[in-house]
Amino acid sequence: MKTLSTRATGLAASPTLSLNARLAARRHAGEEVLNLSVGEPDFAMPESAALWARKAIDDGRSRYTEVAGVLELRERIVRKLAEDNGLRYGPDDIVVSAGAKHALYNAFFVLCGSGDEVVIPSPYWVTYPEQVRAAGAVPVFAATDERSGFKLTAARREAAVTERTKAVVLNSPGNPTGATYTRAELAELAEVVLRHDLYVVEDLIYEHFHYGPGPVPSIAALGDELRERTVVVNGISKSCAMTGWRIGYTAAPSPLARWIKRFQGQVTSNASVVAQYAAIGAMDDVPWRDIASYRDRRDFGHRALTGIPEVRCVLPDGAFYLFPDVSGLLGRTHEGVPLRTSDEFCARLLDVTGVGLVPGTGFGADDHLRLSYAVSPDVLAEALSRLSEFAAALR
Ligand code: PMP
Repeated sequence: MKTLSTRATGLAASPTLSLNARLAARRHAGEEVLNLSVGEPDFAMPESAALWARKAIDDGRSRYTEVAGVLELRERIVRKLAEDNGLRYGPDDIVVSAGAKHALYNAFFVLCGSGDEVVIPSPYWVTYPEQVRAAGAVPVFAATDERSGFKLTAARREAAVTERTKAVVLNSPGNPTGATYTRAELAELAEVVLRHDLYVVEDLIYEHFHYGPGPVPSIAALGDELRERTVVVNGISKSCAMTGWRIGYTAAPSPLARWIKRFQGQVTSNASVVAQYAAIGAMDDVPWRDIASYRDRRDFGHRALTGIPEVRCVLPDGAFYLFPDVSGLLGRTHEGVPLRTSDEFCARLLDVTGVGLVPGTGFGADDHLRLSYAVSPDVLAEALSRLSEFAAALR
């Protein structure tokens, strides 16, 4: 038989996949699992979202909507972007998709063609390079490190830019590092973007999980020139704890928005109509109070991690992950079992203690682990105590 497309077979699997298989096997065997690998908040979704969803069903909303989403939702998104982000868009600039992931793929597909390069700060959320590749383009990584809080400096961004660079990815607060850019830092990056005539894909999905002062700034708000070349991506998955409802969106000026709409129109049409109405309700009731407790969990987790000898960890300003450097623990053994890589470390940790963490490999940082603190404080405390004991037993 002829081979399948290398665009498909060249895609990497999500780094949580093998971990999830191990977690499932443990659960199946009746063993306890403390899962700190999840990328979703633990609080309940807004009640107003459920009310709007029920009403949509009762009203018999069961047909296709406009490809870009129902006008009422797009108008609500326009208001949200103005109020929270200082961004001015019209309803025609918004395309509602099946989650922010879908919205991101729409953006990469419309912006990049064969051979175009997209600069992605590393460590990165694993999906960016795979989506860029799926769109036929080439991901180019721009390294960041702990010293700069995993933030890309203008010099590093500039060094990654070539004649073929089409776009840069900006994810602030970021997954997996939590790095959150200030307005001044964005202004520096914006200067590089303008000088090289680049587009920006700005992923704001974690904006409500911000522990620094004030709202998270958007690069698109730095002026019309930036707004014209930025696709803002956001959604309700994280802010409203509605990961399963699959509602995300892009905000982009014409003609970008028009092409995104056309592409989505040929691939998926509209996002689920009931989920769209639920999103309208959700956006009126983002659960801020719960989010405040995330700062305590972050601080607790950070103290516990940095209390482990040989572990270093940046205190992130946003998202709900900690991303410790465990290079000091790699190369050792646990009861004779070698832990050469973060994959081996996480596999052994899970087998011995039941604690599930994601190895840094898939994020472009093999010496690190990703820990989600979007879990109950009890689970977090127990998991960190087991991790600490595990680390103390290494030889
Ligand atoms: N962007 C980032 C940085 C993410 O971490 C995630 C979810 N893990 C998404 C986008 C996707 O969000 P959604 O569930 O709305 O597709």
